[in-house]
Amino acid sequence: MALTLPFKKNFSLKPYNTFAIDANAEYFLSVRSVDELHSVLRDTSWTFTPKLILGEGSNILLTQDFKGLVIHNQIGGIERLDESKDAIYLKIGAGENWHQFVLFCIENNYAGVENLSLIPGTMGAAPIQNIGAYGVELKDCLVSVDTISIEENKPYTFNNAECEFAYRDSIFKNKLKNKYIITSVTLRLNKNPIFHVEYGAIQEVLKKNNPSPLSIKMISDAIISIRQQKLPDPKKIGNAGSFFKNPIIKKNIFLDLQKKFPTIPYFLEMNGCIKIPAAWLIESCGFKGKRFGNVGVHEHQALVLVNNGNGTGFEIKALSEKIQKSVLDKFGIELMTEVNIY
Ligand code: FAD
Ligand code: NAP
Repeated sequence: MALTLPFKKNFSLKPYNTFAIDANAEYFLSVRSVDELHSVLRDTSWTFTPKLILGEGSNILLTQDFKGLVIHNQIGGIERLDESKDAIYLKIGAGENWHQFVLFCIENNYAGVENLSLIPGTMGAAPIQNIGAYGVELKDCLVSVDTISIEENKPYTFNNAECEFAYRDSIFKNKLKNKYIITSVTLRLNKNPIFHVEYGAIQEVLKKNNPSPLSIKMISDAIISIRQQKLPDPKKIGNAGSFFKNPIIKKNIFLDLQKKFPTIPYFLEMNGCIKIPAAWLIESCGFKGKRFGNVGVHEHQALVLVNNGNGTGFEIKALSEKIQKSVLDKFGIELMTEVNIY
């Protein structure tokens, strides 16, 4: 039986994006199950309407009203698929909150996602940019992604390799952008943790607390405290986390740069390329903590652009372009945006 879901018209998305940009959706509805989603896609009145899938809006920048249908994904549920003495396989609804899921794993001693504590957003958006932090990425524990194709309204399950995961990237952010709606994600969590504590900030906190033996809860707690100190809380000041990706460049280009800028920080990648913290490049161009009208660059983290109040998406985008130009002029490096701009 076809369901007709109630929708809203000219609906403000301000509470639905962490930049707190006051843009409207022409049409807006929430889906709470896969059946509801199928019924929306089956409904011929929406066939030719552009669609935007929305989680918690923590990785989008709205530069204008959305002319089309915003589908707010609230598909919940956590299902235990399989379990062995070493691992557990969980299928998680795309609308579940990511951090609440991480806390659930910590409570049950399921390891693998503790380094991804306190990342905002939904489970369904996590594969889109292969969320990552403190040396761990979603792809490290992801088994598969269940989706529905928007055009054909048919289910398809992508295995890990098919998702084409890369640094803050996947097939869903590129070739298949806006083609599939993620309805659930299957993860493999370890019962015997492998700790990742290479990042300096984690080491510092752990050294202070001197934990013995180390646990996934201690790592999660350390990361939560670091993030709470360093990152602006979107409930208090509008932002979408890192606005740009860290550039990864060829070694020969890096060596030339290092001659000009001997203090440039860097990290060697597995493939021999060099990752440079974008925050350092932006800070070196003088942007850290600077305010430009209603928008600006955060005082503690230059990678985070902020909406100081009544900023528009257009103003944030203009600032991001100003930063990109400065970094390109000074270092010859093109900063790529991480946030999805609409
Ligand atoms: P949204 O912003 O709602 O959507 C993001 C994109 O995914 C959009 O293009 C949307 O159309 C698409 N999308 C969403 N759900 C679906 C779905 N079910 N199916 C298909 N497409 C979908 N990211 C990191 O990787 N690491 C971090 O450490 C990190 N820290 C952050 C800290 C702060 C303070 C903030 C504000 C953001 C941070 N982010 C980080 C970015 C963000 O939290 C993640 O990208 C998160 O996965 C976005 O989830 P969301 O539900 O808010 O997605
Ligand atoms: P940080 O510790 O100040 O380090 C700056 C950058 O250097 C990071 O972006 C990180 O790259 C890189 N880095 C640091 N130590 C490294 C190591 N041992 N090996 C390889 N690379 C290293 O970074 P931060 O801004 O406070 O963020 C901490 C972590 O949270 C990072 O992983 C960051 O990606 C993540 N984070 C992401 C967002 C987002 O919106 N995407 C927002 C806030 C924080 P990587 O980014 O590649 O890890």
